[in-house]
Order: sequence, then structure tokens, then C-alpha cells
Amino acid sequence: MSFRLFDAPLREPSQFVGFAGNTIDRQSENRADDSVDKALADPTTRLLLMNGGRLYLKLDDGGSLDPWFGAAESEPFKVSFAHGVLLGFSDQGPVLAMPAGVDAEHLPETIKAIDYRSVYMQGLIDEVAAGAMAQGAALLAWHASHRFCSKCGAESQMRAGGYKRHCPNCGTEHFPRTDPVAIMLTATREKCLLGRGRHFGPGMYSALAGFIEPGETIEAAVRRETLEEAGIRLGRVVYHASQPWPFPYSLMIGCFGEPLNDDIQADLNELEDCRWFARDEVRLMLTREHPGNLVTPPKGAIAHHLIRAWVDSE
Ligand SMILES: [Zn+2]
Repeated sequence: MSFRLFDAPLREPSQFVGFAGNTIDRQSENRADDSVDKALADPTTRLLLMNGGRLYLKLDDGGSLDPWFGAAESEPFKVSFAHGVLLGFSDQGPVLAMPAGVDAEHLPETIKAIDYRSVYMQGLIDEVAAGAMAQGAALLAWHASHRFCSKCGAESQMRAGGYKRHCPNCGTEHFPRTDPVAIMLTATREKCLLGRGRHFGPGMYSALAGFIEPGETIEAAVRRETLEEAGIRLGRVVYHASQPWPFPYSLMIGCFGEPLNDDIQADLNELEDCRWFARDEVRLMLTREHPGNLVTPPKGAIAHHLIRAWVDSE
């Protein structure tokens, strides 16, 4: 059996995907029930304000956007301080994510509320802030949809700076979810398999993907999804990189798979189209130079990194 650790690059591929720039020191072993209150009392604390899947951004005179708010500065925006979470600590001090209550249309001119996907796809904030946004967005979304104990139905309470919910009725503790999704590029040396989802933008083709199910290994999920969606059986499967994906709280796990058959049988409930692409064609899709205007997903997406790594492999 080969041992790949000492041949691996010092900076693994996951460090280059979107949302990977999070530099917050989480200090997970130090989280206490009063962590958020303590952080709010610290004048160096910085907040990300979120509301209904949107991040608040301050527009300054020079036209640049700043996602960081002070605690006092946040007050006009109906911030629910009791429902905020402590993301951790930066060099400048504590970092919190807070649910805010003023809708986009009622904000002052100098504050924009922009959906997470646009913030990230349009590169409106730096990599460090985008990583913090992914962490905060996932946590706040989990709290918003897990207010009640799933065992007895009583309303549960946030604990440990937002990293736990406790049920005062039955004592059960609930922890934030991360849902694993396998995303895989099936490829030979000459060609790779890309599909087109029904909701994709014009001309976009991407790697196939699907949720990993209970009781399944990553590799088994990669093989099952590729067979179900494209009718392609896989031999070898190798892991490449992962990406936090806060829609609402997934972890994308990127793999390569080796096809054992050629004849695609696409699941047309899931996909509009699925076919093999030659390396030269995919290269043009990556650089947006394809004669038929076909494209791969943009740089921040892990699918882009899988496709790029394969195109560059020879
Ligand atoms: Zn309970």
C-alpha cells in the first residue's frame, strides 16, 4: 500500500478554494456560555451582521465595501445580540456573527445587504472575511432552523458561544451540523465527464455532485452518485480537496474517479445533459474562450479546482 503523506504538497489543494481563507483562531476548547457577552464587552470586537442570507456591508466614500462593524455601531440595525455566535479571535480581537433585523430596503444608503453567494462570487470582501462569513452564515442558519429540541420539542438554548444548543426540558445537547457533499470529476487521461444541472446558468457544465448518505464512505458515495446520475461505473477514487459551502451548512468533498465504461446514461430528472469533454475543449471552457460559449464554474468553486487540476495534469 502506498503512503502518500510525504509526497503531498506543503499547501494542500483545499487551501486555494473559495472560503478557505478563514484565519480565525477558533479556540474551541475555551468556549463558555458567556463567551458572546464577554466578547461584546471588548472594545476591539468586530461583528459580521447577517439577515436572511445576506451580509451587511458598509459603503465608504471611496466606493469600497467593509463587512466589519463595532458593537455600538451595530445597534441601529436591530441586532439580536442574544442570538449571536462567537466565531473566534483574530489579531485585532474577538469576531462575532450576529443576526440583524433591518431588511435590505430599509437600510441607509451607506449600508448594503448582499446575499452571500453574490458577496463571494463577485469578490466583494477579502478571503479572510469571506472565510469568516462562511463560518458565521452556517452557524446562524443552523441556529435559525434548530430552535426546538429534536428529541422532546421544547425550545432549546444557545450555549458555548453558539457551538451547542441545550434542551432545558430533557437535557439533550445538540451540536451544529455540517452536511457532507461528494463532488467528483470522472476522468481518463484524455477526457472528463461533465454534466449540466437544470438550474445552471447559460452554457455551464460542472462536476457531478450529491449528498453523502448515512453509512457511506466518501468513495462509495462518489461511485454511487456517478452511477446514478451518469450510468458510469468507477474504479479508483481519490480525494483531492474540500470546501466549506455555507448554503446552508455543507462541506464539499472533491474527488477524482476512474471510469470503467464509456456509455453515459444520464439521469434526466437530475441533469439536462451529461457528456465527455476532451482536455482541449475543457481548457477553453476554463478560460472562457470556448467557441460554443460553454463554461466551467468560476474560480471560487471547488468544481473549478478539480477541473483545473485535471487539465493541468499533463
Ligand atoms: Zn429536549
